[in-house]
Amino acid sequence: MITIDGSYGEGGGQILRTSLALSLVTGKPFSISNIRAGRKKPGLMRQHLTAVNAAAEIGQAAIEGNIIGSQAFTFEPEMIKPGNFHFAIGSAGSCTLVFQTILPALLIAGEPSEIILEGGTHNPFAPPFDFLEKAFLPVINRMGPKVAAVLEKPGFYPAGGGRFRVSIGPAGLNGIDLLERGNIINQTARASVANLPVNIANRELKVIREKLEWGRERLKAVEVENSQGPGNILTVEIESDNITELFTGFGEKGISAEKVAKQTVKSVQEYLAFNVPVGRYLADQLLVPMALAGGGKFRTLSPTKHTQTNVEIIKRFLDVEIAMNAYDQNQWEIEIWNG
Ligand code: ATP
Repeated sequence: MITIDGSYGEGGGQILRTSLALSLVTGKPFSISNIRAGRKKPGLMRQHLTAVNAAAEIGQAAIEGNIIGSQAFTFEPEMIKPGNFHFAIGSAGSCTLVFQTILPALLIAGEPSEIILEGGTHNPFAPPFDFLEKAFLPVINRMGPKVAAVLEKPGFYPAGGGRFRVSIGPAGLNGIDLLERGNIINQTARASVANLPVNIANRELKVIREKLEWGRERLKAVEVENSQGPGNILTVEIESDNITELFTGFGEKGISAEKVAKQTVKSVQEYLAFNVPVGRYLADQLLVPMALAGGGKFRTLSPTKHTQTNVEIIKRFLDVEIAMNAYDQNQWEIEIWNG
């Protein structure tokens, strides 16, 4: 049995999600201890527990230790069973992270799947639904499978109550090279508010207009109708010939709209300045699908701790080599090939 130390590197939830995803795909059982030891409240929170239980259902796995707060569990999968699933987190925990845990197994399963996920769809420190739809899934679809996600109800942290639906048409995964961004085709910013004054969105867009020197035609303020709780999210979409990237700012109590927008602008400017196709978040999220495809390479910004940690966890399950080389201080190439 593979043993994973959850305190390794980033010491967060990604270690257990990557382990679950790759255990399902390879059929290799694993045990994990020190779960999320790097976080203030370690152990399984609702989002992680839902991911564990969802993976167990899809892989018909035997598990021990799958309770809230648990800092260790073992997971022994049998066969992947595609089909129709409904997973509800029961809190505002991130649905997109639960989805990314089970997606790899369903991408290469023998039959299509339909999944409904309920909980948070727009959470800080997790991919918002828009990122999934615009940045992550288009790359997955270019690798062969056909995955489509529809947001049925937004669920902003901390109230949650969101819901999205995904259909997955599996296929063998092809390797992919993402080395050049190409020309920028479209750049837009969208500031959304739910149960909050629209002025917040307008103030965020004013910062975008001034700092990025964009015309009003690229900016959109949206009042979200069907949200359970309050929320504010700013997304900046950069669509290029070869890839679409999405940068997000999350409105937070006590943080001004201007500050949220300025932080978002900073990540957009960095991405534009260093002329790489893949941003920091997409980089750590593409590693698992690319490793399963047995190859590929992409250019990105300097690797985060999430990326470095994910590389090591992937190598525990798969016989792949992953090289991360800087060709400039802020421009890196990550290459994956079969060992
Ligand atoms: P914890 O570490 O508390 O367990 P967690 O389970 O949410 O938290 P992490 O290990 O921190 O998980 O992983 C967060 C994931 O969310 C990473 O894959 C990261 O790339 C992604 N992510 C975070 N913020 C964004 C964002 N703004 N846009 C896209 N992806 C994001």
